[in-house]
Parts: sequence; C-alpha cells; structure tokens
Amino acid sequence: MTLPLTTTKSEEIFASAQKIMPGGVNSPVRAFKSVGGQPIVFDRVKGAYAWDVDGNQYIDYVGSWGPAICGHAHPDVINALKAALEKGTSFGAPCLLENILAEMVIDAVPSVEMVRFVNSGTEACLSVLRLMRAFTGREKLIKFEGCYHGHGDMFLVKAGSGVATLGLPDSPGVPKSVTISTLTAPYNDIEAVKQLFNENPGEIAGVILEPIVGNAGFIPPDGGFLEGLRVLTRENGALLVFDEVMTGFRIAYGGVQEKFGVIPDLTTLGKVIGGGLPVGAYGGRRDIMSMVAPAGPMYQAGTLSGNPLAMTAGIKTLELLQKPGTYEYLDKITKKLSNGLLQIAKETGHAACGGQISGMFGLFFTPGPVHNYEDAKKSDLAKFSRFHRGMLERGIYLAPSQFEAGFTSLAHTDEDIDKTLAAAREVMSSL
Ligand SMILES: *Cc1c(COP(=O)(O)O)cnc(C)c1O
Repeated sequence: MTLPLTTTKSEEIFASAQKIMPGGVNSPVRAFKSVGGQPIVFDRVKGAYAWDVDGNQYIDYVGSWGPAICGHAHPDVINALKAALEKGTSFGAPCLLENILAEMVIDAVPSVEMVRFVNSGTEACLSVLRLMRAFTGREKLIKFEGCYHGHGDMFLVKAGSGVATLGLPDSPGVPKSVTISTLTAPYNDIEAVKQLFNENPGEIAGVILEPIVGNAGFIPPDGGFLEGLRVLTRENGALLVFDEVMTGFRIAYGGVQEKFGVIPDLTTLGKVIGGGLPVGAYGGRRDIMSMVAPAGPMYQAGTLSGNPLAMTAGIKTLELLQKPGTYEYLDKITKKLSNGLLQIAKETGHAACGGQISGMFGLFFTPGPVHNYEDAKKSDLAKFSRFHRGMLERGIYLAPSQFEAGFTSLAHTDEDIDKTLAAAREVMSSL
C-alpha cells in the first residue's frame, strides 16, 4: 500500500455482512474479489462523489453501474421524488407518470413504438426473450461471448460482468435443457453468426447483443458488424434485439441505435431510465409488442412495475439529459480521461488499450486491440488489481474488475478529470 486509507468501519461492516448475506453483498460485482482487498462500504453519494463510512471521499466512475449519469442525487430528481413520495409509494393501478415516461422513451429510442416497464434489466431481458420466442415460434437464441443480459438461465452462457470477473464457468442450477437453445459467437464476428444461422435453419428466434459491450470491459462494434447483424436477422426471419440496458440514454439520448443508425426490432433498457430507482423496460415494433398480455397472449407482469417513484426519477433524469450539450459534454470529459489514461500508460511503459464513446470508457492492460472477450482476457489482471488499489487509495473509485466499463456523469468536472489523471500517473509510475 502506498498511502494510508483508513477503512476500519468498512471492514467491520463487511465482516458482519459476510455472515448474513452470501459473500456479504447483494450483487456479486460489488465485492472486490477479483482485485483483492475488501469492498468499500458507502455512506452517501452526491454529484461525482461518493463518501464511505470511514469518511473517505472518492471521485466515482462507477455511478451505481450506470444510472447516475446526471450525477448522484441530483437536486431536481430528489425534489421530484419528495413530491411524488407524498402521493404514495405504489399504486398497483395505472398512473399518468407511466404514460409520460413511455412517451419519452418512444420519442427517444428509434426502434421503440410501444414499451413495457419492469423493475430491472434482468427482467427486461427475460421478458424480451419470451417475446422473441412467442413472436417467431422458434426457441433458439444467439448471444455473444462476454455479453451480459442479466442473470436469466438462458443468458448465463459465456456471460460477461460478474460471471467474467469471477471467472465462473456457466452457473450450476441452470438446466442443460435450457442452455441447449443458447448459441454463442465471438463479438464482432459476423461469419460465426452466419454459420450459426446456416447450421440451424428456421430455428433461431433472434440475436441479442450489447451493441457496444460494457460487461466485458468497453468494446465497441467494428464497422459493419451491427449492420451485418441487421441484414442476417432479416434474411433469416429472426429478430434483432439490442440490449441497451447500459447504453440507452448514455451513448446518445436514443442509445446506440440512434448513434449508429442501425434499428433493431426490440430493445431492452434499464439503468439510466430509472434515474437511480429500479426500472427496466422492453419495447419495439408495435406488431411484436402487441403480443404482450393483456393486449396479446404472451404473459408478463409485475406488482411494482411502473411504480410512481421509479417513473418520477426516470422522467426527471431524462428531462435533465434533454438539455442541449449533454452528450457533447460527456464525450469531451470522457475523451480527456480516456486519452489521458492511454498517454500516461504509454509514458510509464505499460501496454494498454481502450477508448470511450460518450460517457462510457474502458482501459485494458494489454497491447490490444480488443475486438472481443477473448482479446479482453489477455489483459494483465494482476496489474489491473494493483492499479485499482492504487487509484482507490488516491480517492478514485473505479469498477473493481478489468471486465467492466467505466462511467462519467454531467457532475464530473475538468478538475475531477485532472485529479484522476494525476493519480493515475502516480499509480502507473509505481506499478
Ligand atoms: C446491467 C445490465 C443488465 C442487467 O440489469 P439489472 O438491472 O442488473 O438486472 C442487462 N444487460 C446489460 C447490458 C446490463 O448492462
């Protein structure tokens, strides 16, 4: 350790947590298993910063894993929530707020003509898969190695995020009979997808992907990859689904589909649209969405779905994002951060590669280039762990895994980026 970082209270709380919750956490990625050491227990968050229970302050590049795009606890969101709270926390009946957020999503996301709100990204992906199968009458699914679509059985095959971080084989408890219908291909490999379609004629319901990968580290699509998938799915009567749970309202207001001009049949959303409350959504073509109950026969439901507090946080967050200059600002500061990190790595003699689009970035300790999960796995994980620890000790909170993207927010200032780069220079010089 290079600097003292007092984490006595964090350690105490986490020790107790481990006795009463598996691994001491309610989501595996929060543990520091892959980087060593103990997780930091947060006390509060505001803007670009987080404070732990020992009073340490961090510049936060996790942003609650994506939702905090306007900065944590934005006063407009908090005030709207306070007002909504007075009207009750859950209705279990239709409310106008659902229409408002639905219209905002439909206006923003090119593929979405109708939308259904759920409570998490996992739920959105599970539901969209059922819909893909219901609509096509086919069972098989193509996903990509290192992509994460929540923890549904069908998706826990060569999955990213915590599965990749912990180096887990496919999870026990997932029946073979279920995963037998999940076909996988390397990301950015259109020929592999073509081959799967050829080997399974008339059997593939669709292709689901992170149109920019964030759950195997940050991996953008190669030119023509998304377009190629659009053509292949059409040719084979299969659906194209963009899982924009991470990228929706982050890469651009209308997501990757707006930015790259490739329009899928269906889209899943989460993270940013909840503004820090639990919201997921799936939507797409009207003819497909009309199959969802009670309009159609495909069943999917939720006691707390469309919850007034969650809708309020989502509406306020999207309103804030609509202000002119939002995505230009995110791109500007994140580019400065990403280019700075790469430059410092070069100057201090570390092989590294990475990049950013809008407020999403990644840095791999490998010469690269990284086109897929296999490439990402060539990263020097031990070096990443030391880098992570060094940054933490200097008040910079990065995702505790080489296989996760980083996020900036509208609250991150030029000065925050400068401080982060100064810390990175110190750490990389000593790695
Ligand atoms: C986070 C994420 C999910 C899962 O969302 P949860 O809200 O954690 O269930 C699904 N897909 C992608 C691309 C994600 O980044």
